[in-house]
Amino acid sequence: MLEFIRSDLAGFNAYSPHPSGHDTALAAEVVLDHLDTNENPYDLPEDVKQKLGWLYQQEIRSNRYPDGEHRALKQAIAAYVTETVAQPAVILPDMISIGNGSDELIRSLLIATCLRGEGAILVAEPTFSMYAIEAQGLGIPVVTVGRSPLTFEMNLAEAEAAIASTQDPPIRAVFVVHPNSPTANALTPTELAWLRTLPSHILVVIDEAYFEFSQQTVVGELAQHPNWAVLRTFSKAFRLAAHRIGYAIGHPALIAALEKIRLPYNLPSTTQVAAQLVLAQRQTLLAVIPELLQERDRLFQALSTCPQLRLWPSDANFLFVRLQPNYAHHSLADIHQQLKAAGTLVRHTGDGLRITVGTPAENTRTIARLTHLLAALSP
Ligand SMILES: *Cc1c(COP(=O)(O)O)cnc(C)c1O
Repeated sequence: MLEFIRSDLAGFNAYSPHPSGHDTALAAEVVLDHLDTNENPYDLPEDVKQKLGWLYQQEIRSNRYPDGEHRALKQAIAAYVTETVAQPAVILPDMISIGNGSDELIRSLLIATCLRGEGAILVAEPTFSMYAIEAQGLGIPVVTVGRSPLTFEMNLAEAEAAIASTQDPPIRAVFVVHPNSPTANALTPTELAWLRTLPSHILVVIDEAYFEFSQQTVVGELAQHPNWAVLRTFSKAFRLAAHRIGYAIGHPALIAALEKIRLPYNLPSTTQVAAQLVLAQRQTLLAVIPELLQERDRLFQALSTCPQLRLWPSDANFLFVRLQPNYAHHSLADIHQQLKAAGTLVRHTGDGLRITVGTPAENTRTIARLTHLLAALSP
């Protein structure tokens, strides 16, 4: 309709955070358990929130621009990341770029590598949808390969062939999640070995959004691989999804490229202060993780008694389930809707349901509601 809009955008949809989350058909009295976006179920504790409010009042001048170089926060993140690496590796502030969520860094990485027709990206489906969504928005081709239906390991032969055969433009970046979303499996030694073989002209992005749950990281290997970048976020374990903050860790030359293309004041002062505060309080805030992992195992045990469901082990704070083959004629979309009508919102994606681990009470409701509605299905 508007003639000045890029012609290909007509075929795009705006990103919907809760694809079925705003259903007016939902009875007004239903209070939803939001188990569809993998956040930590706990808000910041009252005293930490008060401290944040106090910092806003005392330290932030609302009329002044934020620190556009994120100096103090980069120091704090570098110290935290160094602490999370087993190998004797030191992460310095010049190896870190901070974004308005890791979503911003995904876009920056795409701009820095593939734009102007210079490259395509490779992903193994099902995986985090933002890589393909952001690439398409920039006109960057997306090459997809499959995964093992048994273990969700990437089909490496297919990936290898895709890299060898993709031309005009060639594959310039490979995006993987460690552990993957929605399937919750960490990279295997075989997958990691394959990533190590990728040539230096291909950027390897390893998204560790769930690191605080999995405790598995490749940061210790970054020094040997200047073509690797690790992404992390404050949106999950650190309870700051509302503040929008993520970071990339990589070779200083890659980080310098990302800094060239980011918006000058991408991080509000309140966000920078919030991230510094949760890092300073990380002992307390991350102390709920063992409980969440225990709850994940309880959810897994309980749901594995459902003959209708197929479950996979999880290295993160969510479970991925599919219907067993003899129940596969039932519609997952219907089950998803019924579960929502009962008050539990999960994500229907990758031909399965991705269920976030919530509070003990939420998980107990998930188990009861899902077990109840599955029992009505005939094989
Ligand atoms: C949740 C998530 C993120 C976090 O994105 P933000 O923009 O930092 O909120 C990144 N990657 C994956 C795979 C995720 O699941």
